[in-house]
Amino acid sequence: MSQGRTPLIAGNWKMNGGLDEVDSLAGELARRMTALDGPPAFDMALCPPFPLLPMIAARIEESGLALGAQDCHGKEQGAHTGDVSAALLAQVGCSFVIVGHSERRTDHDETDTQVVEKARAAQAAGLCAIVCVGETEAERDAGRAAEVVVGQVAGSVPEGSNPDNLVIAYEPVWAIGTGKTATPGDAQEMHAAIRASLADRFGPDVAAGVRILYGGSMKPGNAAELLALADVDGGLIGGAALKADDFWAIAEAVA
Ligand code: PEP
Repeated sequence: MSQGRTPLIAGNWKMNGGLDEVDSLAGELARRMTALDGPPAFDMALCPPFPLLPMIAARIEESGLALGAQDCHGKEQGAHTGDVSAALLAQVGCSFVIVGHSERRTDHDETDTQVVEKARAAQAAGLCAIVCVGETEAERDAGRAAEVVVGQVAGSVPEGSNPDNLVIAYEPVWAIGTGKTATPGDAQEMHAAIRASLADRFGPDVAAGVRILYGGSMKPGNAAELLALADVDGGLIGGAALKADDFWAIAEAVA
């Protein structure tokens, strides 16, 4: 990663984890953060399921760990049964929220139009939106990966975004939970294309400051190589975020 952008290591617990993980996972990571000699070289965020947020917020207080949610609604409040507002997430201690994860784009047919509304709502509530983008295997095989991803960035990132309220996660769909990872060359090429598209829209300063995470089967064995790439500013980690040792080892791989 380049100087000036603090790497962000974010754990997406997905629909995993229960009351036990408040201490065994979040508590353990908080202990490791507070035991560090000096400030960490990375920011670390945990994104557990909604019901765990307040308990984990209390458990990680003053550890330097940040809290994030996995989704929010695009409206401020109202008759939206089962949904959660960005303002409530902020109230319970979140500073991040993931929006547009490919599992939500697939399972809930979420479109860029909905994702940009969610990102806008998150930013309006003072949260940093982690906007996920990524191509399918078929799109990559058809040579359309960059076009698809840059299109998703254009459609899913709100006007007025800046390095404080926006993180992008490039997650090739075929790499999520599969054990397959983008090659360093392909990852760097895509991250650079995303940054160039941000520069075109928001100017070079904003583009240079926005963190672009890689996600897709990142683990201790491949993290150092990916995190060393010029335009990779951290990771959004699923499976390996569920084990404190693995997640911590990924953070330690930050050069
Ligand atoms: C994710 O779901 O954001 C993810 C990257 O998952 P995994 O690390 O398990 O591939």
